Amino acid sequence: MLQEFNYLAPKSKNELYTLLKKHAGKSRILAGGTDILVELHNHWIAPANLIDIKKIKELQGITFNDSEGLSIGATTVCIDLINDKNVKQYYPLLADAAGRIGSPQLRNRATIAGNLCTASPCADMGCSLLALGASVELGSADGVRVIPLKDFFTGPKKTQIKPHEVLQRIIVPAEMAGAKYGMRKLKRIKGHDIALVSVAIARTSKVMRAGIGSCAPTPVVTADLSPDAKVARVISAVEQVVSPIDDVRASRDYRLFMTRDFVEKIYPELF
Ligand SMILES: Cc1cc2nc3c(=O)[nH]c(=O)nc-3n(C[C@H](O)[C@H](O)[C@H](O)COP(=O)(O)OP(=O)(O)OC[C@H]3O[C@@H](n4cnc5c(N)ncnc54)[C@H](O)[C@@H]3O)c2cc1C
Repeated sequence: MLQEFNYLAPKSKNELYTLLKKHAGKSRILAGGTDILVELHNHWIAPANLIDIKKIKELQGITFNDSEGLSIGATTVCIDLINDKNVKQYYPLLADAAGRIGSPQLRNRATIAGNLCTASPCADMGCSLLALGASVELGSADGVRVIPLKDFFTGPKKTQIKPHEVLQRIIVPAEMAGAKYGMRKLKRIKGHDIALVSVAIARTSKVMRAGIGSCAPTPVVTADLSPDAKVARVISAVEQVVSPIDDVRASRDYRLFMTRDFVEKIYPELF
């Protein structure tokens, strides 16, 4: 049984900011609910207030322009990303990654922002957005701050978001539009499952970057590499940022082996 909580559903960003400030430390944001309802059901968390952000128009939608790039509103769900024409044309890696999350039912419900805020090491949107050099915009009554996604994750289930802040949109830079890409996700079963290892690489004429999931306490990304870097250089950059562990799902050695294998398989797709 779920414990009791107040359900709050603000209709504007300002109303949300006020509620977040008033209930800081005693509230949690509710987006698609695919992670937080599991936590509530298992009594891992017991917030006094659940603040549903789905009715806030300012947090909805996906837009693209040549100067800023792609903007993904906080309530965008996986299926919105998969079907968006600008995502398909300019950032197909994101549609590919979103299509690998869970089942169709889940993709209709789970938000991209929620996937980042949960901060699971295996978050599929984490490694793909890292490869694309994305940033996140955090808003609150104190103002707005934009931080690179690579600095956002601070540990398993931990991020830089303060209790009175909301992740209001994700920004993917214009210079990554049209990037060549490849992604691989290793699972234990053929059906829907979280990743044992995932690798996403994006390459433009100026830069190449690899995002890796399930191989460190958070999703991680390589340094910016030359677009002409050889495959051995990409593998070595990946090995500098991963630190996989043995756990119930896979051994450290298997994860390292598959990380290298995925880079080798993706590399020819980038040219
Ligand atoms: C059966 C199943 C299969 C799954 N498979 C996968 C998979 O294959 N790959 C994968 O990556 N994930 C998978 N997941 C995890 C999950 O679906 C995602 O992490 C999802 O994207 C979370 O989004 P949500 O909108 O449901 O978030 P919610 O559950 O609503 O929220 C998650 C957390 O983020 C916070 N939050 C949400 N939005 C914001 C915001 N805008 N600002 C600040 N905080 C916020 C909430 O307070 C909460 O702590 C799976 C989950 C289930 C149940």
